Amino acid sequence: MQKEIVHQLPKVELHCHLDGSVPMETLKKLAEKQQFDKTLLDQIVAPAKCHDLADYLKSFDITLQLLQTYEQLEESAYATAEAAALENVRYLELRFAPLLHTEAGMTLPEIIAAVSNGIRRAMEQYNIVVNLLICGMRQHPNEDNLVLLSEVMNTRENLLVGFDMAGPEPDLANDHIGPLTTFAKEKDLQITLHSGECGCAHNVVQAIHLGAERIGHGIATQMDEAAQMLCVEKGTVIELCPTSNIQTNAVENWDVYPLFNFMEKGIKCCVNTDNRTVSHTTLTKEYLLLAEHLGINYATMKTLNLNGLAGAFTTSEVKAQLSTVIAEAYAPYV
Ligand SMILES: [Zn+2]
Repeated sequence: MQKEIVHQLPKVELHCHLDGSVPMETLKKLAEKQQFDKTLLDQIVAPAKCHDLADYLKSFDITLQLLQTYEQLEESAYATAEAAALENVRYLELRFAPLLHTEAGMTLPEIIAAVSNGIRRAMEQYNIVVNLLICGMRQHPNEDNLVLLSEVMNTRENLLVGFDMAGPEPDLANDHIGPLTTFAKEKDLQITLHSGECGCAHNVVQAIHLGAERIGHGIATQMDEAAQMLCVEKGTVIELCPTSNIQTNAVENWDVYPLFNFMEKGIKCCVNTDNRTVSHTTLTKEYLLLAEHLGINYATMKTLNLNGLAGAFTTSEVKAQLSTVIAEAYAPYV
């Protein structure tokens, strides 16, 4: 596959964290405005191999210091959506954890307004549809995450379409979050959950039982036949994030990356960046890496994007329109 072609083909991305994806240029601009120690910015891009997920997550302690005011969040959301649009991502779901942006006194409605307004500005300027997912954080107690969901949904912001749980994934990650997913579903949010990133297949099974239509990473699914069968039966979409998965040691190396393993079993997968800046990647780069290491072709790339579209938390009109766009654009290459 060729870089220019992969770059210009329309793409769908469902798993992208705002705080890990703000373009470095934007972070530099924000750092200058508040006399931030700019040498810290050098530590944001995570090493090619981290010790584990917790190690990878350290980068966020730095970026989050620059995402604490309305202007910072609005500009960052805009610039992240712009970066995706410029590589022809036509549908993006951007996720963020509002409780991580309250340190300078912003309220939850202000945080939602900042991100939504930045996204709207990007959508007015570029040919991209963006929706937002709210992340609860696993390190916060259920009570805090419930207050978060309730306050966030009171804003009636129509860009908010889904709920996720992010943060360090311990063995019992999904055991206690039933009240959160139940509440989110009552508020018409669709569910995707980070699960199976740290070797725990039972978290994937539990996530699906809790109503997750998609699984973030889901790597551990490869070790458990029951989890695989459940994904096939329910049509669960696995949001793979190749570079990130190798960085966090969810997957040891490219030779054992489970993309084809999943696809051959009939599990729907899609490809994502996870964190464009922290993982120093783009969606174009992720597809090129899959071509280089696993030998994927344009037909597989098209399938992966259609899988993403099928699992997108958007209207049937948007899905129908984008599936036509994808069919036409990929036709010369498949
Ligand atoms: Zn993630």
